[in-house]
Amino acid sequence: MPLTHDSWDTRWRWEDEPVVSESIKTLPLVFEEPKGRGKPPRHLADLTPEDRKTRLEELGLPGFRARQLSTHYFSRLVDDPGQMTDLPAGQRAELVAGLLPNLMTALKTQQADKGTTRKTLWKLFDGALVESVLMRYPGRVTICVSSQAGCGMACPFCATGQGGLQRNMSTGEIVEQVVAGARALARDEVAGGPGRISNVVFMGMGEPMANYKAVMGAVRRLTDPAPDGLGMSARGITVSTVGLVPRINQLAEEGIPVTLALSLHAPDDELRDELVPINTRWKVGETVEAAWNYAKTTKRRVSIEYAMMRGINDQAWRADLLGDVLNSYGDWGWVHVNLIPLNPTPGSKWTASDPADEREFVRRLEAKGIPTTVRDTRGREIDGACGQLAAHED
Ligand code: SAH
Repeated sequence: MPLTHDSWDTRWRWEDEPVVSESIKTLPLVFEEPKGRGKPPRHLADLTPEDRKTRLEELGLPGFRARQLSTHYFSRLVDDPGQMTDLPAGQRAELVAGLLPNLMTALKTQQADKGTTRKTLWKLFDGALVESVLMRYPGRVTICVSSQAGCGMACPFCATGQGGLQRNMSTGEIVEQVVAGARALARDEVAGGPGRISNVVFMGMGEPMANYKAVMGAVRRLTDPAPDGLGMSARGITVSTVGLVPRINQLAEEGIPVTLALSLHAPDDELRDELVPINTRWKVGETVEAAWNYAKTTKRRVSIEYAMMRGINDQAWRADLLGDVLNSYGDWGWVHVNLIPLNPTPGSKWTASDPADEREFVRRLEAKGIPTTVRDTRGREIDGACGQLAAHED
C-alpha cells in the first residue's frame, strides 16, 4: 500500500486510509420514512383556518367553533377542556376530540443551568420518542424542536444520526412542542418567571429539509397571526440543514424569511464526505452556493455550523480554507460562522478541540472578515446539547 502525501494536510497517510482515522460506523443515507407507519391524529395545527372549519362540519359540528378552539390553543394556551367555557358543555368533548386530539405525552423533563435549560422527552401516539429543549437566556427564550423521530442523515458524530430514521413528524407534532414550551413559560414553570418564546430552532432530532412539507406547515403555523397561529416573527425561526440543496433553493422561494443554518463542519469534500454523508450527493461548492443564494434571495444572513472536532476538522489551514470558500461568494456580510464545541455522544471517540486551536480558528476566520461566534454548550449534562438527542426511555 503506497503512502501518499495530501497537499492540504501535513500528515502522511495510507492511500486507502479514511481521512477520519478512527473507524466510523457508516450507515446508509435515508431520505424516505419507512413505509406502513400510522399517521398521527389530525390536529388543528395541521390545518389552515378554512380546513379547520371544514373538518368540524364534516363531523357534524358548527364550523365557527374552529376559531374558538384555535384561540384556546394558540392564544390562551389552554389545554384543559374544562377551561373552554365558551364552548357548549354538551359539545365540548366532541369539538376537542375533532380538532385538539392529544398528540404527545411528556415522559420526562430534565433541567440544567439552574432550571433555565429544560429537556422534555415526548412519547408520540405510536410510541415513537422525540425530545425538545427549552433554553432561557437574558432577554430571549429559544426552543429547539425535533422534526423527525430519529434521523436518516447518518452523521457519525451525532447521536440522533447514529440511531437511524423512525418516521417523519406531522406539522401538529412539531408545533405542539413549541406550544407546550409556551404553556410551561406562561404558567411560570420555568426558572426566571413567566415568559414567552422568542425563538424556535429546528435543531432537535431529524433533518427538517427531509420532512419539508410538515416543517413548512409548522413554520406557517408559528408565524400565522393569532389566533390562527402563534404569531411569531419569521426572523426568530431558524431552520438547520445538512444541505439538501434542492430544498434550500425551494425554501428561498417560499417568501418566509426564516434564518437558514447550514451544518457544514468541513470546507473540503474529502473530509465532509465522511462527516456529513449527504456530501456524497451535494458537494461543498454546490451546498455553499445554495446557502449564498438563500442569503441573496431572502436578505437573511446565513449561519454556517461547524462542530469543532479535535484533530479532525480544526486545523488552522481548514479555517483559512473555510474563510476562502465563503469569501468566494463575496464579502457583503451574507454569512457568519457558528463554531460548536463538539458534545460527547455514546460510542464516539472524537472530542472537542483544544481551546487554543479553537481560538486560532476563530482568529483566522475573523482575519478574513468572517463574523464568528462560539456556541455555548447548554444542557450538556442532561444530554440536551447539539447532537446529543437520542430519546431513550431509561
Ligand atoms: N439535521 C439538521 C438539524 C439538526 S441541528 C442539521 O444537521 O443541521 C443539530 C446541529 O448540531 C447540527 O449542526 C449538527 O451537525 C450539530 N451536531 C451534531 N452532533 C453534534 C455533536 N456531537 N456536537 C456538537 N454539535 C453536533
